[in-house]
Parts: sequence; structure tokens; C-alpha cells
Amino acid sequence: MNVQKNLFPLLRIARHRLGIDGQGVTTLVAGASCPLHCKWCLNKEILKKNEVELISPEELYDRVKIDDLYYQATGGGVTFGGGESLLQAAFFEPFREICGDSWRLCAETSLAVPRSLVELAEQSIDEFIVDCKDMNPEIYHSYTGGDQSLMESNLQFLIEKAGPERVVVRVPLIPEYNTKDAQQSSVNRLKELGVTRFDLFEYVKR
Ligand code: SF4
Repeated sequence: MNVQKNLFPLLRIARHRLGIDGQGVTTLVAGASCPLHCKWCLNKEILKKNEVELISPEELYDRVKIDDLYYQATGGGVTFGGGESLLQAAFFEPFREICGDSWRLCAETSLAVPRSLVELAEQSIDEFIVDCKDMNPEIYHSYTGGDQSLMESNLQFLIEKAGPERVVVRVPLIPEYNTKDAQQSSVNRLKELGVTRFDLFEYVKR
């Protein structure tokens, strides 16, 4: 999907989320397209759509500002998800200029993107929620079709640049692909990289 800079390919907006994807009350803004092909992806069908709504930073702001009081009262804000939110990294800065500094902006990401997009996102996003899948390159590739070394090097960059307090890493137990031991091995490797915030959970097969 070829998306014009500063237009966000919107899949859906979900309001009033609490404790799911970032601090406080958040609005999830999900974008289309993803470079990975995860076996148990919950968005698989919707990500195949070729036509999605493209919205500008101003249009998105107009739609989500209705919950401004909730954001201000709880330290929440907007969480960009997907698909892969960092494919829209060029959107974050103009959106930040409109919403100001009092909203907390989060990005859910696999970090399976070019380094330049991570660098761009780091300038406007307060917190990154990284789904690492699995730190073992073979498990990672068999589950996602992607390259684990790209994710790991981007994560290393992010930890150094943004600091570990701005990064939480989700480490899933993936049915048929890894085990509890593999999940723990991933945590151990992530600790070596400087990760301090973890979210361990189990994927739901669909
Ligand atoms: S990274 Fe997320 S959106 Fe992309 S294929 Fe995997 S589960 Fe689906």
C-alpha cells in the first residue's frame, strides 16, 4: 500500500480503553498494512483490504479530542496500533504538533521496519509497546516470515536512544511455535539488551 506522507490509513478507532495499550484511558488508532505474516494474526483478513480510509492529522485530532478530559485526568492519550504503526511514523510529528504535549502518545510495534522509521517515531512517541514474538531467530522466522535480527537491532537502538523506561516488550507464548522455556529464554536475552519492562502473555489461536 502506497500511502501519502502525513495521511494515516485508518482501519479503526477504539475508544475508552483502560490498561490495555498504555497508561490511563487510551484511544486505539489502528493502521493498515504490516510487513510480517504472523500465523495467528487477529487482523489477517482486514489487513488484506486494499482500500482504507486515509485521514490527515487534523481529521484524526477532530475525531479523538472528544476524550481529551479522560486523557488529561488519567495521563492517557492515543495509542497507534495496527498492522504496523511505525510504517506511519511520518504522521506522528504533525499529529503531536496538533494535540500538544499533554496527551501521551504510544505506538504498538513489531519493530520489523527500517531503522529510519524507528528514529522518526522516537522523536514524537512517548512509549513503545514492542511485540518481539520470540528472540530465537528460527522460531521468529517460522512464525512471522520475518528477520529477527532486524527487530533485535531496532530494539537495541530504541533502548539506547529512548531509554528502557519508554519501552515495554511483550513476550508471547505462541501455541505450536514456542514453549514456556523459549519464552523465558527470550526474556533472558531481552534483559541482556537492557529491557526492564515486560508483558508476558499467551496468544489466542484463531
Ligand atoms: S505483526 Fe501484528 S498485525 Fe502484523 S502480522 Fe503479526 S500479528 Fe498481524
